[in-house]
Formats: sequence, C-alpha cells, structure tokens
Amino acid sequence: MKELEDRILAEGKILPGPVLKVSSFLNHQMDADFIMELGAELARRYGDAGVTKILTIESSGIAIAVACGAALHVPVLFAKKHITSNVSGDLYQTIVHSYTHGTDYTVVVEREYLNAEDRVLIVDDFLANGKAIEGLLDLIRQAGAEAVGAGIAIEKGFQEGGAKLRENGLRVESLAIVDEMSEDGIRFRPET
Ligand code: 5GP
Repeated sequence: MKELEDRILAEGKILPGPVLKVSSFLNHQMDADFIMELGAELARRYGDAGVTKILTIESSGIAIAVACGAALHVPVLFAKKHITSNVSGDLYQTIVHSYTHGTDYTVVVEREYLNAEDRVLIVDDFLANGKAIEGLLDLIRQAGAEAVGAGIAIEKGFQEGGAKLRENGLRVESLAIVDEMSEDGIRFRPET
C-alpha cells in the first residue's frame, strides 16, 4: 500500500534489533484516520473470506484490528497479556515469545469469546519472526475455530515469520513488506 510505504519512508526510524519504529503514527501516537484506512484495506482484502471475528494481541495490534473490525462489522477480540480481575471464566492460553522485549509471556482469551463456529482473521501491526501469530493460531486451534488468514500492517520480509506461515498454508496479507532496512535506506517488496 503506497500510502503506508510513503509514511514509513518519511517517519520510520531504524533501531537496533532490527526494529522499525513508527511511533509517530502507529505504535505510540496514532493517526486515527490513517489507521482506519489501513484497517479498511485489510477488510477489503478479506471481504470475501466469511470472517466472523478478528483476533489480535495487546496492545499494539488493537488499533488496526478495531479499524478492520469496524469495516467488516465483526467483533474484535484481543489476547490479554495480564490476567486481571476483569478476566474470568475458562481460558484458552498459550505462551508467546516477544520480539521487542526478548522474553516469553502468557496470553489468554476467555473461552466464551472464541468458539468452533468462528472464522477468524488475525490482525497485527508487525510481522517479524511470526511468534505472535503462532500463539494466536494456537488459541484458534484450541477453540476448534478456523483461521482464515492474517492481516498485517508492516511485515519485515527479511525475517522468517511471513515465509514460514505461508509455507504452512496460512493466507498472509501485509500492507507493506520491508525486504531490507539499514542506514542506507528501506527497500520494499514490490506489490504483486
Ligand atoms: P513476531 O512475533 O512476528 O516476531 O513479532 C511481532 C510482534 O513484535 C508485533 O506484534 C510487534 O508488536 C512487535 N514487533 C516486531 N518487530 C517490530 C518492529 O520492527 N517494530 C515494531 N514497532 N514492533 C515490532
């Protein structure tokens, strides 16, 4: 998506990791209008997939997931990293390795919100090594639901997640795929 690539080129910062920092419009300060456009584009791509629910992981995936859910008119469920007094009932849970924190953490969803009739679209802000999405796929599997695909704002194509998930048969749609990033610049994969 050209508008997203332009925004990354204009405002993205490359940090060690490598991490692409897009905190001016996506990960800290959020450009609400632009995020609605990103969500609408993901919704357009999955418009014919019979999606009944969107699943993301807190916290940075929530905004784009809500934008997509608003366009598809389906509920948005986010896997929680913290079991608070707000979380009750039976849970599905799984362990995810955090790319940005370098640690493992448990995420949960309440069983009543994910069930075997659901056709689930996973939405997230970034795809790197694919651990977040693998965790969400595990929750979907536990519920006996079907994963119709993953919709991602920014995929780092030089990391293994996207290729691995596609090899395993998951439909993955990314609005921008960064194939290279260094102090010399950012190169995007051409859209097909
Ligand atoms: P994965 O699980 O695919 O390795 O990493 C995906 C998760 O890590 C995303 O949910 C996102 O929050 C975070 N992440 C991974 N790489 C980046 C990055 O380059 N920039 C930002 N802002 N977040 C990232």
